[in-house]
Amino acid sequence: CGIFAYLNYLTPKSRQEVLDLLVTGLKRLEYRGYDSTGVAIDSPDNKNIVMVKRTGKVKVLEEAIQEHFSGGDYSEPVLTHIGIAHTRWATHGVPCERNSHPHRSDDGNGFVVVHNGIITNYNDVKTFLAKRGYEFESDTDTEVFAKLVHHLWKTHPTYSFRELVEQAILQVEGAFAIAVKSKHFPGECVASRRSSPLLVGIKTKTRLATDHIPILYGKDADSGKPQVLPRSESTSEFMPLEEKEVEYFFASDASAVIEHTNRVIYLEDDDVAAVRDGTLSIHRLKKSLDDPHAREITTLK
Ligand code: GLU
Repeated sequence: CGIFAYLNYLTPKSRQEVLDLLVTGLKRLEYRGYDSTGVAIDSPDNKNIVMVKRTGKVKVLEEAIQEHFSGGDYSEPVLTHIGIAHTRWATHGVPCERNSHPHRSDDGNGFVVVHNGIITNYNDVKTFLAKRGYEFESDTDTEVFAKLVHHLWKTHPTYSFRELVEQAILQVEGAFAIAVKSKHFPGECVASRRSSPLLVGIKTKTRLATDHIPILYGKDADSGKPQVLPRSESTSEFMPLEEKEVEYFFASDASAVIEHTNRVIYLEDDDVAAVRDGTLSIHRLKKSLDDPHAREITTLK
């Protein structure tokens, strides 16, 4: 099973090109094994999220995409575009289209989620959400995550997208690599992992000026900006990656990004990677003493 997300802030690309990139990414992850696949991208008017899912091989999804997205609207180049894609190895709920990822928060596709792993306390979260009126359309553990983020968004209107995902991961147990896209936060994507692998690939036009990015702590809602803690000499030089022309990839495995870039960050358990208008930042909710100050940008050989 695998996750592949593509975030374009580099040069305008058509939605068709974005879809091709997503499908190729999934193909590179095929060897990991899976039973169904799916993608989510922005609609031509950028106001909605469109999903296509299929049981079976990536090839089947590819054909479905061709059918679904044919037409002029999808050949129009757009600059900022975020697509997420998934190959599923069913743990909760049989392999079928309804249980395929991405899963959504509501029928307006407010938040869509791809997930690898198992949310072990999904029943408790489901009960909690069902009491608050949420109705579930799949048998997966994953769907609770999308709906939990939606519930937090409703109840905490000042939270940033990253904070919403952080609050949700604080409430789930088990193993996950997760990528979330939202129509309420266009141009943004948030990803995190715990016990399942996930890396960030970075592709820029010019050489990156740094090989580290700082780990940030704290909340946007309180301070307006996340805090870099501790403020030691050694960390002050590290800044979030504020690239104007950049492409990012979230992937379960380097084999899906190596054809695009050899610069990657391997996320650690409970890291939250947030990309907003081309800026990548990595966050942790709690500081522990042995945490390093920064994550290294590794060069793949
Ligand atoms: N537990 C999730 C499901 O059954 C994700 C499985 C996976 O890792 O692909 O849908």
